[in-house]
Parts: sequence; C-alpha cells; structure tokens
Amino acid sequence: MIPISQPDIQEDEINAVIDVLKSGIIVQGEKTQELEQLFTKICGTKYAVAVNSGTAALHTALYAAGIGPGDEVITSPFTFGATANSILMVGAKSIFVDITLDSYNIDASKIEEAITPNTKAILPINLYGQAADYSKIQTIAKKHKLLIIEDAAQSVGSKYDVRASGNLGDIGCLSLYATKNIMCGEGGMITTNDKEYFDRAKLFRNHGQPENEKYNYLDLGFNYRLTDIAAAIGIEQVKKLSQYTSRRQSIAKKYSESFNDVPGIITPIIKSNRTHVFHQYTIFVTDEFKLSRDELQKYLFEKNIQTNVYYPKPLNKFDQFLSSGTFTNATKAAKRVLSLPVHPQLTDDDVNYIISTFLHI
Ligand SMILES: *Cc1c(COP(=O)(O)O)cnc(C)c1O
Repeated sequence: MIPISQPDIQEDEINAVIDVLKSGIIVQGEKTQELEQLFTKICGTKYAVAVNSGTAALHTALYAAGIGPGDEVITSPFTFGATANSILMVGAKSIFVDITLDSYNIDASKIEEAITPNTKAILPINLYGQAADYSKIQTIAKKHKLLIIEDAAQSVGSKYDVRASGNLGDIGCLSLYATKNIMCGEGGMITTNDKEYFDRAKLFRNHGQPENEKYNYLDLGFNYRLTDIAAAIGIEQVKKLSQYTSRRQSIAKKYSESFNDVPGIITPIIKSNRTHVFHQYTIFVTDEFKLSRDELQKYLFEKNIQTNVYYPKPLNKFDQFLSSGTFTNATKAAKRVLSLPVHPQLTDDDVNYIISTFLHI
C-alpha cells in the first residue's frame, strides 16, 4: 500500500534523539530553544514559542491574544476540529464563514458580513499548504480592529507575496505532528512579532510560571511544554524543509500535468502571489468523472493507493460548535475532495504508478 502520509525518519533524527536521551536534559531545554530560533528564521518573526502540539499552539495563541468568553472568532468550517475546539477552549465562539472552491480557504469577501460588535479575531486556515487571501483579510482586520490568528498547521514554508506563513497575521500557529510537512512526533509552535503575546504565550505553556521562577504563578496556564526529545527531531527536519517542499511541489506539478485534461477532475489551483507547499494534493471530483469520489477512493485503495478525505464533514454540522447558516461550498467540498499521496517519501515509481493507475480508469 502506498500510504497517504509517512514521516521521514532517518539516522539524523534517530541519533539526535539518542544524544538528547544521553544528555539527561529531556524537557524544554536547549534543543527546544534551538528549534524556536529556527522557526523565527523560517517564519521571519521576532519570536517563536514551542509547545507540545498544534492544538496547544492555537489554544495558547487565543489565550495570549486575550480572547475569552463572549468573544467571537471568524473562521472556516472546512478544517480540522482543532481549530474550532481551541476557540471553544478559551470560551469564545466560532463564527463560520464559507470557503471558496478554488482555494478551499475562507472566502474573504464574506468576512465583513459576519462581523459583530463581539468579533475579536479572524482565524484563517492555510488549508492543504496554501495561504488564505491575506491581502483582503489584513485590510478587513485593520478596518474593524480585529486580530489575525493564522492556523498555519499545514503551511510551514509557504508564502503570501514575500511574507512567510506564520508571519501573515498577529500570531501564527504551526504543527509538528507526525504527518505534517516537518514533524517531531507531537509538537507545535507559536510565532509572533509582538512581545506581549510572546511573553503571555511563554507563561501559558508552563502554568503561568516565568522561566527561572518556579511556583510563582503570574497567569493562567497549562503544561504545554515540548520535550527536547521531540525538539531534536524537529531540528533535523527543519534542515530538510526546503528539500521536502521542492519534492512535494514537483510531485504536485507532475500530477496536475497528468490530470488537468481528465474530464471531471479539478486539480489544485495555485493562487496568485502564493507559494503552495502541498501539505496535501487535493482534487475535486465532479459528476462528469466516470466514478463518484467515494468510488474513486475505493478503486485506488484496491490498487494499493491510500487516499483520504480532508474533511468529510464541515465543522458547522457538529452541535458543539453551535453554528447557524449554510455553507454551500464547504458542504460541496466535503462531498467531492480527495487527497492523493504527495509526501517526499514517494519514489518516482510510486508517482508514476499512481498517475498511470488513475489515467486507466
Ligand atoms: C494538524 C492540524 C492542527 C492541529 O495540530 P496538532 O499538532 O495535531 O495538534 C490544527 N489545525 C489544522 C488545520 C491541522 O491540520
């Protein structure tokens, strides 16, 4: 079976972990600091705070930004549950705005109509590895004095114009989960240029205690600390980020060249001013195609190609997110998208096999 995702674990990662274990300092030490420094470089921000998941990064960012009960956060329903769960965790409410079908990201032209006196922030997701429409989103945020919190869990290394993902809003939230473009097993990162958010985030990840001042609880907090074991893996992965990204982009290019002319298949659109890092390569299957999306998935599975649906049910359909309104495009996408393997572990033979299997349907 060709898997939909597969972490790249080489001798570098293994040796780095062994070194940390032998050092005896395994929690939030030098390696974690080194990883934070590397992320300020990747994202181009002044600060980065490492935490132990992308979900923790979102929760910490929302808390650090002062978002709480009674506040509303505008986001897209076409995302992983972590986005909306984090909003709920600080006691705020997700206000969903539909996506555009050419990007699967929040439709910036519909954001303004969702703004109320309670709106505090816009939380766009850079789905599949491509930035949302930040020029429009930044204009709206400025006009209405809203914060932008970026869910950059899928978009490490991507860009909008010259600015890197993680630096497209007031706070960026990245994930280093095992299947992400770079990973450390479980991990996350908050990026910002704002000293106050940076300080609050650092307190929040460690029970409100200042570094070097244990048992002095200055603020609310949790245990969101990253281990140096994980950070050491992350450091090795960062070294390979640009190589990984180019491989993903070149596989994606090959797929699109092969599938562009297949009736009923819409290949991913790279929007202007954006660098797509192809966390996922996601096609849209229309009625014109010979098989339905689900039949296509089953067919590929029988040919030993694992695919996945990100995401089968938009978040507005779950009671806990308490959302009114219809989200036509998100609903359509949930029925019709299919992601093919695009990770750097694929060999040229795998890629050619996937293409020829697909073209023979
Ligand atoms: C992976 C992901 C998260 C959460 O990251 P974890 O590290 O798994 O907690 C949040 N948002 C999106 C869009 C993701 O893909």
